[in-house]
Amino acid sequence: MFFLSLLCICGLLLRGDAQDRASLWRGNDRSGRCQYTFTVPSPAEATCPQAGGPELDGLKARLGVLEALVAQLGGKDVQPRGGQPGAAARPQPELQEALSRAVAERNLLQGEKERLQRELDTLKLRMEEMRRETERLRSRPCLSQSPMAAATATQQDWGRGRLAADSTWLHGAQGFQEVKAEVTEVPAPDGNVDNTGCGQLISVGEPVTHRKADNIAGKYGVWMQDPEAVSPYGASMLWRIDTIGTEVRQLYGYDDMEQLSKGFPSKVLLLPDPLESTGATIYRGSLYYQRRLSRTLIRYDLASENVAARRELPHAGFHGQFPYSWGGYTDIDLSVDEKGLWAVYSTSKAQGAIVISKLDPHSLEVKRSWETSIRKASVANSFMICGKLYTVASYAARDTTINQVYDTATSQLKAVSIPFKNKYGYNSMIDYSLAQRKLFAWDNFHLVSYDLRLGRQQAN
Ligand code: CA
Repeated sequence: MFFLSLLCICGLLLRGDAQDRASLWRGNDRSGRCQYTFTVPSPAEATCPQAGGPELDGLKARLGVLEALVAQLGGKDVQPRGGQPGAAARPQPELQEALSRAVAERNLLQGEKERLQRELDTLKLRMEEMRRETERLRSRPCLSQSPMAAATATQQDWGRGRLAADSTWLHGAQGFQEVKAEVTEVPAPDGNVDNTGCGQLISVGEPVTHRKADNIAGKYGVWMQDPEAVSPYGASMLWRIDTIGTEVRQLYGYDDMEQLSKGFPSKVLLLPDPLESTGATIYRGSLYYQRRLSRTLIRYDLASENVAARRELPHAGFHGQFPYSWGGYTDIDLSVDEKGLWAVYSTSKAQGAIVISKLDPHSLEVKRSWETSIRKASVANSFMICGKLYTVASYAARDTTINQVYDTATSQLKAVSIPFKNKYGYNSMIDYSLAQRKLFAWDNFHLVSYDLRLGRQQAN
C-alpha cells in the first residue's frame, strides 16, 4: 500500500513538467484499480490561442473596421461590427463632391489668373510701343499736305499736324524713291458714256511696280480703286490694306497713285470689325470685306465711316476651309466688274469647287449663284471681267498662265493659256480694277498693276 501511494505522489510531481514533454503517471481509479496515464504534448496544441477573451474581442473590432471601410468604398452605409458608428464609417459623398468642386474651381481660377497675366503683359508691351511711336512722331518735323488731304482730316488722323501714314511714312521714307511710280490720270465716271460693253481677255502686260511695303504686315495685302467713287473721295483715290496680323483693321487712303507710290496716305480709317483675306473690294463709296473668322460680309460706308450692311454669305467656307492654292485665308474673294459686285468662294456642298455669286451691292444678298467645276485650291487666284471668271495657275512661278475662264452668261468653262508673270514670286491678291481697266495685284510686299488687252466688245 505504501508503495502504491509513493507512485501516486511521484505521478503528481511528474505532472508539473508534462506541459513541455512526454509524461507518465499512475493512480487509482474510483474502483481502486491502478491506472497508468501517458501524456505527449502536441506542437499544434501548444500554440493554440485561447478560445475567447480579449483576443477574440480585438479580432471582432478589427473585422468591424474592415467591414466599414469596404462599405465606404462601395458607397454603402454600414456600422462596424460590434461598435458605435465612427467618423470612418459616415457617408462621405457630399464631402467628396464638395472637395472635387473646390479643386475644379481652384484650377479654373488659376487658369483665369494666368490668362489675365498674359493679357496684362501684352497690354504693357503695346503701351510701350505706342509710347515709343508717340515720341518718334513728336521728334519729327511736319510734312506738307495737299489741300485734299487737309480737307479730309478727321478725328482718326494720327498726330497733330500730320494726317495719316503708312508704315514706311512712319519709319522713314527713304525707300520710295527707288520705286518708279506710274501715275495714271483717271477721268471721273461720266454717266453719259456707255461703259458696259465687255470684251474677252486677250493678253496681260508686264507687271508695273507702284510701291513696296516695308514691314511684315505688308507681305500680303489688297489695294483697290473705286470705279464709281462717292464724295468726299475723288475718282483717283486709291485704298490699301496690309493683311498680315490677327487684327487687320486699318484702311489707308491715298489721293492718287503718286501719293500711294510715295507712301503718303491722306486718310486712315479704322474698321469696326477686323478683316480676313485679301478679297476686299471698293465700290460706290463702300468697302466690302469678309469679317475675320466668319462668313459675314460687311459693307462699310467710307463717307459716314459706319457699317451700312452686314450679312452672311450662305454656306461659304472661311478661315482656311477653301482658300486659293497659296492659302492665307483667301476663302472669300470679292470683286467688282462691269456687271457689278461678285463673291468667289466655295461651300461644303460644292466640295471645294469655285462658286460664283452675284451680290446686291446695297443689301449684300445673293442674287444668283453659279457652281463651277474648278477646284478652288488648284488655282492661285481669280478675277472677274465682265461677268467672266479668270483663274491664274500659279502664285509663285515667275512665268505662269491664266488658264481657265468661266462665263456666267453661258455657264460654260473654257481652258485658255494667257501668259502672266509673278515678278516677285508670291502673289497674294489679283483683281480687275474697273476704274483703270487693269489688273491690280499684291506680289510679295509689292503693289503691282498689269495692263490688259481686251477683245472686241460684245453686246452682252
Ligand atoms: Ca481676286
